[in-house]
Amino acid sequence: MTDLQDRLRGIAVGAAVGDALGMPLEFHPPRAEYERVSEMLDGPLPAGCFTDDTEMALALAESLLAASPLDAHDLIGRFVIWYRSHPEDIGIHTSAVLAKIDAGVPVTEAVRQVQALEPDSAGNGSLMRAWPIAIARHNNESLLAAETHIQSEITHAHPDCTNGSLLFNLILYHLLHSSEHSTDAALRLAITRAVDQVSLGEDFAVVVNLAPLRQAVDLKNSGWVCHTIESALWAVQTTRSFEEALVRVVNLGNDADTAGAVAGAIAGALYGLSHIPQRWRQAVHGEYPIRTGKLWFEQDFIQLADRLAALE
Ligand SMILES: [Mg+2]
Repeated sequence: MTDLQDRLRGIAVGAAVGDALGMPLEFHPPRAEYERVSEMLDGPLPAGCFTDDTEMALALAESLLAASPLDAHDLIGRFVIWYRSHPEDIGIHTSAVLAKIDAGVPVTEAVRQVQALEPDSAGNGSLMRAWPIAIARHNNESLLAAETHIQSEITHAHPDCTNGSLLFNLILYHLLHSSEHSTDAALRLAITRAVDQVSLGEDFAVVVNLAPLRQAVDLKNSGWVCHTIESALWAVQTTRSFEEALVRVVNLGNDADTAGAVAGAIAGALYGLSHIPQRWRQAVHGEYPIRTGKLWFEQDFIQLADRLAALE
């Protein structure tokens, strides 16, 4: 296995592992150092199960495999089918938009109507599912940027959402191509380059730049896209392994599964699949499409990453 292949696979498996590890901690308060969770536990779903973060990413991944470059109509169709399958976990904003689209409201109008209810709302729903594009477009930065924007706008058109998704995928892109020997340097350079390429609002840029200097108690880890990016960047920049980064981020509680998925993809691209703990790789699983009996295990995520990476 090449180093690049290990990193590409690390993104897919890392995101699913982070989602599953965070699943039982979602909506819970942060956990103190002495009571930190580091194993897959039962929660609303059985131990090791991934949630909507990974399900929506799988919808995006399968859409890319069916139609490349990304066909927004195909992706919308898959999101609506997923919405109709009554997922256990679904974001409030995503649910509201998909309900309108399912009722026949045109996509841009559906997004506009939901956004108008809370103009400043900028959730992490399009960030959490964006990673399949980073794998598929690991050699095509301009297509990566265009498709990342499109996938976000379907449900989350706020600039912080499109920018947050783009920042995330560009960080993954630069990590995949890093030739730095130290993970610290690789991460620092990838984040710097990505920040330079995205027109983040001033507040968002401050959040990103200060993330590694934060203390756990400062991190709210809410469903706001800026908080998720902040938590994920804090976790990977203040630790030295995939395991340590993921344990740190999910124990922030609150939107633990989404922060876990985002940090998992970044740490997966940084360290590679081979550095994801075996016990987590063996435990992660889930059903997609929901209620079809089709189960996903580590090997399926590896195959998915290989197929996405071969698209170019
Ligand atoms: Mg979730």
